[in-house]
Amino acid sequence: MTLMANALAVERASLRYGTFQALIDVTFSVGEGQLVTLLGPSGCGKTTLLKAIAGFMPLDSGRIEISGRDMQGVPPEKRDTAMCFQSYALFPHLSVAENIAFGLRQRRIKSSDIASRVAAVAQQVGLSPQLEKLPGQLSGGQQQRVALARAMAVHPGVMLFDEPLSNLDLKLRDHVRIEIRALQREHGFTAVYVTHDQQEALAMSDLVIVMRNGMIEQMGPPEQIYRHPVNRFVADFVGTANIMPVDVLASDQKSGRYEVTCPFGKAIIHSATPPVGSRIYACWRPEDAMLTSEITEEENRFTFDISARTFLGSLCNLALSPRNGAAEAFFRIQTHGFTPVREGQTVDVVIPPDAIRFLEEVVA
Ligand code: ATP
Repeated sequence: MTLMANALAVERASLRYGTFQALIDVTFSVGEGQLVTLLGPSGCGKTTLLKAIAGFMPLDSGRIEISGRDMQGVPPEKRDTAMCFQSYALFPHLSVAENIAFGLRQRRIKSSDIASRVAAVAQQVGLSPQLEKLPGQLSGGQQQRVALARAMAVHPGVMLFDEPLSNLDLKLRDHVRIEIRALQREHGFTAVYVTHDQQEALAMSDLVIVMRNGMIEQMGPPEQIYRHPVNRFVADFVGTANIMPVDVLASDQKSGRYEVTCPFGKAIIHSATPPVGSRIYACWRPEDAMLTSEITEEENRFTFDISARTFLGSLCNLALSPRNGAAEAFFRIQTHGFTPVREGQTVDVVIPPDAIRFLEEVVA
C-alpha cells in the first residue's frame, strides 16, 4: 500500500538503541523537490532518523517509503538516496574526480557516462579546475563541495545531508548554504537536511521539523514555526523569545481579542485561535516591541527599566525589567543600533497585540 505520493514518507517510525528509545512515532512526508530540515538539540535523534531513511538503521516499528516504495528490508545501496556528511568522508588518496565518481562506480554506471557526469557536476559546484587535486590540497569549503558533488552525481531521489556545514567558518557556511539551496532548487532534488542551527533551518527549508527526545514537536514552513511556535521549547529553540505565563481574564472569540494579565500588567492579545486554557503560556519576539519614542499608541504600553544594553552594530539588544510586576522577570527587546538609550534608564515600550501569541501549553 502506498501512503502518499511523496518523494519520502515516514510513518510512525520508532527505533531503540538497546533500551534507549531514540525515535518515537515519527511521522512526516516530503514532497518532490522540497528541502526539509530536521532541527533540534544534540541527541534528539536527527542523525538516527537520517540513518534510518538511508537504510543504515532498521526501524523497530513504522515504515519508510521512498518514491512510493516501502523500504523495509531494502539495503542502503539499493535505496534511491545519497548522503552528504559533516566530516566530508572523502578518500584522501583519491583525486577530486575519483571521489566524485565513487558513488557512480558503486552503482556500476558505464565508465564513459561516469566521466561526463563527473565533469557536469564538478562544473555545477564550481570544482572543474580542482578535479585532479587530492582532498588534502583543497580548502574546507572546496572539500565540502566535493562531498556535495559526490552525492549529487548519483542523481538520488532523496539527498540526505548530515550537518554538512558545521566544519566551515561562519562566512563560508553562509556562502555554501546559499549554494546548496540554489543547486537544490535548480535541480529540483528532494533533500532532508539535519542541523542544530535554527538560522540555517529557517534560511534553507521549505519545511522545518523541530525534534526533541526522539519526537517531533512541530513541523511547518519556516515562517509558521517562527511566528506560531506551539510550545515553549519550539519558541525558545527557534529564535529568541520572551515567554511568559498569562491569565486570560476576558475574551471575545468573535473579534479574536483577549485581555490577559502577564508579568508586567494587563495586556491585550489579538489571536485568530483561542487560547487552550485560562492560564497558559504566551510569547513575543524581541523585534516586535517598540520604544514609545517610535510610536504613539497607548494599547499594550508598559514601563520598564533597562537593566542591560548590548550594542551589536546595526542592532541593539536591551534587557528590560518591568516597573510594575514580578521583580525577577526580565524581557528582551531589539532596537536599531543607535537608539539613544542607556542602562538604568526607564522607557515605555509598546508590544502590539497581534505580536503576542498564545502557545498551546497550559501552565502546570
Ligand atoms: P547531534 O546533533 O549531537 O548529532 P542527533 O540529534 O543527531 O545529535 P543522534 O545521533 O540521532 O542525535 O542520537 C540520538 C540519541 O541516541 C542520543 O541520545 C545518542 O546518545 C543515542 N545514540 C546514538 N547512537 C547510538 C548507538 N549506536 N548506541 C546507543 N545510543 C546511541
